[in-house]
Amino acid sequence: MRSYKTSQALFERAQHHIPGGVNSPVRAFKSVGGHPLFIKRAKGAYLYDEDGNRYIDYINSWGPMILGHAHPPVVQAIQAKAADSTSFGAPTELEIEMAELIKKMVPNVDLIRMVNSGTEACMSAIRLARGFTGRNKIIKFEGCYHGHADAFLVKAGSGLATLDIQSVPGVQSYVAQDTITVPYNNLEEVQKVVRQYGKEIAAIIIEPVGGNMGCIPPAPGFLQGLRELCTQQGIIFILDEVITGFRLTRGGAQELYRIEADLVTYGKIIGGGMPVGAFGGKKEIMERIAPLGNVYQAGTLSGNPIAMIAGYTLLNELNNTPDLYTALNEKSKLLCEGLSEILKRKGIAHTINQVGSMLSVHFGAGVVRDFESAKACDGELFNRFFHHLLQRGVYLPPSAFESWFISNALSVDDIHQTLAAVEEFEA
Ligand SMILES: *Cc1c(COP(=O)(O)O)cnc(C)c1O
Repeated sequence: MRSYKTSQALFERAQHHIPGGVNSPVRAFKSVGGHPLFIKRAKGAYLYDEDGNRYIDYINSWGPMILGHAHPPVVQAIQAKAADSTSFGAPTELEIEMAELIKKMVPNVDLIRMVNSGTEACMSAIRLARGFTGRNKIIKFEGCYHGHADAFLVKAGSGLATLDIQSVPGVQSYVAQDTITVPYNNLEEVQKVVRQYGKEIAAIIIEPVGGNMGCIPPAPGFLQGLRELCTQQGIIFILDEVITGFRLTRGGAQELYRIEADLVTYGKIIGGGMPVGAFGGKKEIMERIAPLGNVYQAGTLSGNPIAMIAGYTLLNELNNTPDLYTALNEKSKLLCEGLSEILKRKGIAHTINQVGSMLSVHFGAGVVRDFESAKACDGELFNRFFHHLLQRGVYLPPSAFESWFISNALSVDDIHQTLAAVEEFEA
């Protein structure tokens, strides 16, 4: 048995000072049970905890570490930049370079504004959509997470699903009323809602691949159907690419599914591990943001030089590495095929969903295509699977409602080690 004594002691200590001992709920391991690992450092595909245990990492900081941890060019760029001061609160050339690079990778973004988190990006995109259209309601999908702004905390997947929180005290009912939720992959329901509320709807916001109820791919034609509906009704189509941006392809889900959003939000990878988000899109909409327009949005540390150089260095490498996304997809496929073969042989009912370097394993279920079918899965079995692998040095997301993320630092040998650990699992 691995020893977790130091992590256990740190968790005890943390709980005296930090709510639940963590600064973001899913880290607490509440649904899988046990106590969280306290991480000391990470390099490439591996995490090392405070007890000196090594883990193959399938979280990768929930996405940003797509090239592995402590990626040398990113670390060096941060170190060099920090010597010139860590913040100015004034414009820098680097912010222009960042915007130019993003526009090169995502051609339908005309203007882009940097913020400090995915939450801020989505919150600001919704405010802008409302300001631009003069309408109040938004449509979101059950199980999709768009950060913790009030308007999004309705059937929001992710940590709320993990903790089984149905409605959030503190979110006023009049705010929640303007958020209409519809099952993922159900175009007919969306059409019905649009027929009913038509000109009251400012925006449809969606994760183009669901990543906060496990990994859920869009059904063929679903995103295209939403796009058409938005165009017909003057609704702003917002793709939340906080996870999928720069992960599925250079241009994200927009490129993969050949679909153009009106606004798009980013986070996670865009900061290279620093706290960054961004929202951007069509010029005529983005021009309504202050100081050009009167939709106010601001940030003391937005466009921070350390955050920008980390993100820029990572994105630049993603943009310049040929075959990167093919390699990630192949590693992901190898893992999924191995998992599927072993679980099938053991007679463990499961569904594996995979899109590029995102994947998830749901136990005991048929097809998982929306929040309901994700919730129907065997959570208890997932929890045992999670702890079985953790004991063997494989670190999965501590919830069946989270997607796994593959980094390019993960080697074929790491995948074989992971599968060998799965081989020892007894349901
Ligand atoms: C993580 C996430 C967010 C929120 O980003 P934060 O940086 O945690 O605020 C928004 N949307 C999606 C799809 C996410 O996965």
